[in-house]
Amino acid sequence: MSMNAKGRPTKPETSNISPQFGSALLQEEGLLHEVGHCDKTGVDMEKLSGRKSRLGDLERSEATGLVGLSEPEALRHYVRLSGRNYAIDLGLYPLGSCTMKHNPRLNEKLARIPGFADIHPLQPTSTVQGALQLMEELSHWLLEITGMQTVALSPKAGAHGEMCGMLSIREAILARGELEQRRRVLVPQSAHGTNPATAAACGFEIDEIPANAEGRVDWDVFCSRLGPDVAAIMLTNPNTCGLFEPDIRKIADLIHEHGGYFYCDGANLNAIMGKCRVNDLGVDAMHINLHKTFSTPHGGGGPGAGPTVLSSRLADFAPVPFVKTDKTGKLQLVEQLNDAPDSFGRMCAFHGQMGMFVRALAYMMSHGGDGLRQVSEDAVLNANYLLARIKNHLSPAFSGTCMHEALFDDEFLKGSGVTTLDFAKALIDEGYHPMTMYFPLVVHGALLIEPTETESLQSLDAFADTLCELANAAKSGDQERFTQAPVKAPLRRLDETRAARHPVLRFQENLQNT
Ligand SMILES: *Cc1c(COP(=O)(O)O)cnc(C)c1O
Repeated sequence: MSMNAKGRPTKPETSNISPQFGSALLQEEGLLHEVGHCDKTGVDMEKLSGRKSRLGDLERSEATGLVGLSEPEALRHYVRLSGRNYAIDLGLYPLGSCTMKHNPRLNEKLARIPGFADIHPLQPTSTVQGALQLMEELSHWLLEITGMQTVALSPKAGAHGEMCGMLSIREAILARGELEQRRRVLVPQSAHGTNPATAAACGFEIDEIPANAEGRVDWDVFCSRLGPDVAAIMLTNPNTCGLFEPDIRKIADLIHEHGGYFYCDGANLNAIMGKCRVNDLGVDAMHINLHKTFSTPHGGGGPGAGPTVLSSRLADFAPVPFVKTDKTGKLQLVEQLNDAPDSFGRMCAFHGQMGMFVRALAYMMSHGGDGLRQVSEDAVLNANYLLARIKNHLSPAFSGTCMHEALFDDEFLKGSGVTTLDFAKALIDEGYHPMTMYFPLVVHGALLIEPTETESLQSLDAFADTLCELANAAKSGDQERFTQAPVKAPLRRLDETRAARHPVLRFQENLQNT
């Protein structure tokens, strides 16, 4: 990969884009420090005279080192960069496990109502009764969908919700006086990396359960790992192979029999919402990614929301704050541990992501209960349609139908010299964001494809045609097309290892090509 003097990867060598003007109306854009200059300001103001600064010795004595740009220059910089993003609004986004569905504009419109958008978390509750009512109504829907006893709205992502659930479990075990003894958390091999990370962060030891040949929890191994030192199992259902765990009820019963708890990773709720209730499956705690199932935007690190539902076994240990109706019928936030003596505490400063709550409830209410069930049915139908269209060209990891996402291994690339990574990069040249790669770890060179319910038959067909064409090209020996890809993207292959190991987070004038 070629780098410029500032250590940035450069554009494709084959590109005929002029560095000055870009291609047609697609503007090239440098870093802020390349576009602007420190010796220029965006706004010139006369030096004030006859006024004494009130900053005292806090007054800045050196230049900030920030570049000066006028408002239109700054605006153009960011708008041009935004055009470099791939987004669900631009095309199909088949990133497995992430549920990249369309974000309805109605949600956005409602989230921008000033009474929701402009409130402050420290406002007196008497002035935000409507917002609290919305939180209560959202809780009602989440509990209705899952059948659970209570919900903590404050977790700010799926992983944060996992932490909420595991801290509730830890508190319940502590209350039983068994924390010293119950150290082990069972985590199936196909789990999202956040599951073992969460259990470890909560002080537990991880015990990995291998998958069987059908991609499910190996029942015999699971049984053999049970014991008085087991705190919980963290299971995803449908699991990250896109498969329903048929033994889930038996797993729940057995873990309870041995005094442990059942954490269910709810990231894949989009496949089962309205079809079955996790409480009936014996789950004790589950996070719900509002930014997946309930269509609030995600990607780029947030903002997300990971409300966590808890069973009657764990409800008392839920974190503060939560919404409660007082004697006069007004909604209040329970903030103090005095008012919630069994609570494990507080997860974050305020109450969660209000904007996400509004969007998620808008989505739920515009679909209704029957509509939400249809969302799941259509998500599963779309994934199976895609699976059926491409299964003879790619290699499905497991036989039979799937739930809301389809998993493939790299068997179909065997002998072609093309890897999963090359295949994914070639998809970029075809105008698609790649699928999830190399996850889950239970199959070799995994490709996990989740189309979601919001893709039309035409867009599924176009995507399937592209995948089949690429698979045929790889098998017919056109290795170059893959190992060189992407050739049409503004940047080609990045050195991801170096970016992760030696991130350059600050602009340095004299950064050499190191
Ligand atoms: C997305 C996801 C998570 C984590 O959710 P975040 O909101 O990204 O923190 C956990 N488990 C699974 C299976 C997921 O797909």
